[in-house]
Amino acid sequence: MLMKAESTSGQAQLKRANRMTLIRQLRVQPGQSRVDLAHAIGLTKSTVSALARELIDEGWLVEREVLVTGDIGRRPTPLFIDPTRLLLLGAQVGIGHVRVVLTSLTGEILSARSATYDTELEVEACILAVTRTLLAVAARCGEAQRIIGIGLGLPGGVDQASDQLVFAPHLHWHHVPFGALLRAALRGTALSGAPVFMQNDADVAALGESEFNPSPMADPLLLVLVGEGVGAGLVVGGRLLTGARGLAGEVGHMVLQIDGPLCSCGRRGCAEALIGSRALLQPDGQAPAPAAVAKAGEYLGVLLQNLAVAYDPACIVLGGPAVALGDALLGPVRATLQQYAQAARLPEPMLRVSRFGADAIAVGAAALAGYRLTQPALP
Ligand SMILES: [Zn+2]
Repeated sequence: MLMKAESTSGQAQLKRANRMTLIRQLRVQPGQSRVDLAHAIGLTKSTVSALARELIDEGWLVEREVLVTGDIGRRPTPLFIDPTRLLLLGAQVGIGHVRVVLTSLTGEILSARSATYDTELEVEACILAVTRTLLAVAARCGEAQRIIGIGLGLPGGVDQASDQLVFAPHLHWHHVPFGALLRAALRGTALSGAPVFMQNDADVAALGESEFNPSPMADPLLLVLVGEGVGAGLVVGGRLLTGARGLAGEVGHMVLQIDGPLCSCGRRGCAEALIGSRALLQPDGQAPAPAAVAKAGEYLGVLLQNLAVAYDPACIVLGGPAVALGDALLGPVRATLQQYAQAARLPEPMLRVSRFGADAIAVGAAALAGYRLTQPALP
């Protein structure tokens, strides 16, 4: 009996893995037919047809009729990820603010809402704001729609194995079981039992760019967020690089200047102290001085140059509030990258701004939920 149970669970795992491989294949290359899919993922056409039928019934996939032109005969029906029935919730947990979006499986924002919380209070005040905002946005979900997962982008290192926010420097939180606290707060509500996934904010923003991208993915994709802190997320071969303890990408604490200005971490000359919003703040709340923005742009260029040398990314994406400074910041960034590239007679790294603007983290958090739900189980 035990053997049978084991083999049944093995088959269930294999089936789940095949289902998810099929979904991910259609995400990378939408519009493939059952025959294309069978070739691409190495399954028989009848297996693909059976899985596709189930996934269509459940709301993951949709068939679209081909417009037949001329006399080439009937073409195989293309399959797509269904952008209408299954939905994802993404929450950006910022320093004192929360942003929640409801998205389709393909990343269209259907609804959004923001809230604030008092950073002087305990973590529970933040959990309450996140819970209320998630429920308010979830209430806009249509009759025929279903929310299948919730993602969180948190301002610190996240350890997936222990399901903990390890450290949020700007909030002074250490070892917070954020996911468990949120699941408990959602008990008895409309979102009770929904799977909750969490990851660092720059990591989820990087996933948002790679998961919700209609064109072939840049690989590796490096995303750098610049706000109060500076962080990076790296997606390699469709997988997020999180590091052994979930702390990969803390590039805000790479040292760019020996004996430079004091950083929030206690060291001197970190990227964050030279580029982060505190480096640009004016004591009286005025807009940052143009010279300060230009200098920060140069240092950001140096940081990106160092990261480009380390990872050789196909594309660097910039996100976070600092991007709103526009060319005043981005001009010096590009000029710095160009200068280093010319000196070494190499092409400069490709640089662009996040497609989701101020919602990069919230949309990325929704992408995280989709990413985790469709990861084929590891053997
Ligand atoms: Zn530092």
